[in-house]
Amino acid sequence: MSHIHLLGFPRIGAKRELKFLLEQFWRQDIDEATLLGGARELRQKHWLLQKGAGLDISPVGDSSLYDQVLDAQVLVGAIPRRFGFDAATLSTSQYFQLARGNATQHALEMTKWFDTNYHYLVPEWHADTTFAANPAPLLAHIAEAQALGIQAKPVLIGPLTLLWQGKCKGSTFDRLSLLPALLATYQQLLAALNTAKVDWVQIDEPILALDLPADWLAAFTPTYQALAASPLKLLLATYFGSVAQHAPLLTALPVAGLHLDLVRAPQQLDAFLPAWPQDKILSAGLIDGRNIWRTDLDAALAQAETLHATLGSQLWLAPSCSLLHSPFDLAQEGKLDVDLKSWLAFAVQKVNELKLLKRGLHSGRSSIENELAASNFARQQRQQHPRIHRADVAQRLAALPAGSDQRHSPYPLRAQAQASWLKLPLLPTTTIGSFPQTGDIRAARAAFKRGELDAAGYEQAMKAEIELVIRKQEALDIDVLVHGEAERNDMVEYFGEQLDGFAFTEYGWVQSYGSRCVKPPIIYGDVARPHAMTVAWSVYAQSLTPRPVKGMLTGPVTILQWSFVRNDLPRSQVCRQIALAINDEVLDLENAGIKVIQIDEPAVREGLPLQRADWDTYLAWAGEAFRLSCARVDDSTQIHTHMCYSEFGDILPAIAALDADVITIETSRSDMELLRDFGSFQYPNEIGPGVYDIHSPRIPAEHELEKLLAKALDVIPAQRLWVNPDCGLKTRGWPEAEAALQAMVNVTKRLRSKLATTV
Ligand code: GLN
Ligand code: ZN
Repeated sequence: MSHIHLLGFPRIGAKRELKFLLEQFWRQDIDEATLLGGARELRQKHWLLQKGAGLDISPVGDSSLYDQVLDAQVLVGAIPRRFGFDAATLSTSQYFQLARGNATQHALEMTKWFDTNYHYLVPEWHADTTFAANPAPLLAHIAEAQALGIQAKPVLIGPLTLLWQGKCKGSTFDRLSLLPALLATYQQLLAALNTAKVDWVQIDEPILALDLPADWLAAFTPTYQALAASPLKLLLATYFGSVAQHAPLLTALPVAGLHLDLVRAPQQLDAFLPAWPQDKILSAGLIDGRNIWRTDLDAALAQAETLHATLGSQLWLAPSCSLLHSPFDLAQEGKLDVDLKSWLAFAVQKVNELKLLKRGLHSGRSSIENELAASNFARQQRQQHPRIHRADVAQRLAALPAGSDQRHSPYPLRAQAQASWLKLPLLPTTTIGSFPQTGDIRAARAAFKRGELDAAGYEQAMKAEIELVIRKQEALDIDVLVHGEAERNDMVEYFGEQLDGFAFTEYGWVQSYGSRCVKPPIIYGDVARPHAMTVAWSVYAQSLTPRPVKGMLTGPVTILQWSFVRNDLPRSQVCRQIALAINDEVLDLENAGIKVIQIDEPAVREGLPLQRADWDTYLAWAGEAFRLSCARVDDSTQIHTHMCYSEFGDILPAIAALDADVITIETSRSDMELLRDFGSFQYPNEIGPGVYDIHSPRIPAEHELEKLLAKALDVIPAQRLWVNPDCGLKTRGWPEAEAALQAMVNVTKRLRSKLATTV
């Protein structure tokens, strides 16, 4: 019989119970025993849920209190040494200090886990890092699972992935030099697991889906030969992409099973199947762990049947990757459109789909006749649904003439047209869009949403806020003003809620990091803009001041990247549809006299495919979508874009190709290091490198700002340099926001007079 299993389950809980436990504990509202007891109850519930659905074997070790990569560091006894903690005796409080920092140490750095929106805590490797197996926490979880009658499959992050995902500290050295010592520790971990009566151990090596250097690839065989000394059966899990190019290597490894992501990379089977080894399990990832669409049961079962015909019980079935990246339970959604709801599957539904696949495979199609019919009905209904396919949207895209994504004139001519009316001083000052989101603002938005505040009252509250923000910016003497974004609770949700083709869930939360979750919108149908979304607010703001007010929009790539996207259309097409909807807004803003418009694209970099060979295609359509979103504006209209918290070095040509008149970027955290790339690349348009870190409540000293601006002037000519913070100010309080901006303006003015006398 084929096994069904999961690589991991969402640990946050159906109602985000873990989030609330953690936050109560951090606020000292509950004690440690309550936190740990609550977390235990939750993971037990999740195991029982899997058992109830008929899963043969359950992952253990996926239910972290904060992050599974931090847990892996504890497990191998290699937590960052600057804290001076001992992994073997690590207390709960010390664990959270690693994750969240303390008075003397900043937290471990956080980075996105591959191309997901999950952030892991980055290991810190020193040339002389030592390891020590610390299996106790994992053994305790295994014992808990076994006490519930669960067949436990401990999950470990593979040694090569763990090393790769860490950063060298102290000196530059080859992380692979740590491998021998790390392997000895993994051998000890496996020996400890072997005493715990488990058969299988899942070892995740998602780095196999990246472009790995030859020496890292060559390390796989000796690594898994060393681990194969254990009598335990190892299931090597790959996911997030194709590992086809490594098929000969992987099928020869001395592991008992291999998991392949057949949702992201179905074609990779061709590389594996013809020479599938007699002695290996193939765990086929047939159900999408990264998206929310219901599985086409018929197609998945057909695929399972084909595989089963050659593999027999060597075939296991699973979701494509851990369900950590999927929301919890669709059944909780009471407000979703019923048709749309019938097209979706969250983690609990995906587990059920797995159960149905197994039944269909072993007891025949007739045993799941009704479920197959329901799945087929949903598929057909979705294919034909009028709200999904709109002729007007399709026609508009098809009718776009070539060159629609190009501005009328090249940047130098546009710059002249813009300068002649904007009449900005040298080093113009601006901000990135949002101003402090005070309790009052949030209360007004919430009351309006609940229907307790009527439209007129809400409008009045927001207008008051806009006026306040305009007056404060005037008093600070900022050159290009913003309206403050008080009406937005989230930069994607605000637009998604007003666009056709988007839906919102109540409980579709996915963990982003620690206790933080995000609830991405669902793009289910063709996207169009039924009415203006921001024009009234921007026009009101502009009516209050003679200074230019910058319109503020979220770009198509970012809206796409931070949503669950329909899987019946290429992402590039969905992105173009969003681009045209944003373009409608851009043209309306321009018509209404808003002639400086910022289109935020902070997510461009994170959309990059895992393998370099796919980068150009992505950058080409992403760039086209951005340009489409600001197409057809007059030369004199100034288009800004904003990006943050990413490295741009390797994609600068693509960023320049966006052809925004002005780009504002985050650079202050790296002391303008990021800007060096822009300088050596000779970025052609205007740039506003962020001069202070808006994530810190610290008010920057004027001499620091002076130094940063001097550095910026080293690489960017003064005529093309803007001065601004590194991101929006919505998380800050007013006193610090004002003080920091005042410092920024003071420094800029001094620098202007200095430049004037030296010219
Ligand atoms: N305009 C947005 C703001 O200021 C940009 C946010 C972002 O870059 N993530 O809040
Ligand atoms: Zn930003």
